[in-house]
Amino acid sequence: MAYVVKIDKEKCDGDGACVENCPVEVFVIGDDGKSDPINQDECIGCETCMEVCEQGAVTVEEV
Ligand code: SF4
Repeated sequence: MAYVVKIDKEKCDGDGACVENCPVEVFVIGDDGKSDPINQDECIGCETCMEVCEQGAVTVEEV
């Protein structure tokens, strides 16, 4: 299984909840101050990031 992880940059406020809570360190805060899912190949589909993002900026889709 593989997953595509997307950040809605309009919604993301860069609070880092996804960075702190993803068990496999998919996210970093990028130069724009917003989350960037640079390691999405590592995603295990736990959906923790979607649960902890108060802005609803993260989507995880199985492909
Ligand atoms: S679904 Fe889980 S493993 Fe995948 S990016 Fe979100 S927190 Fe990380």
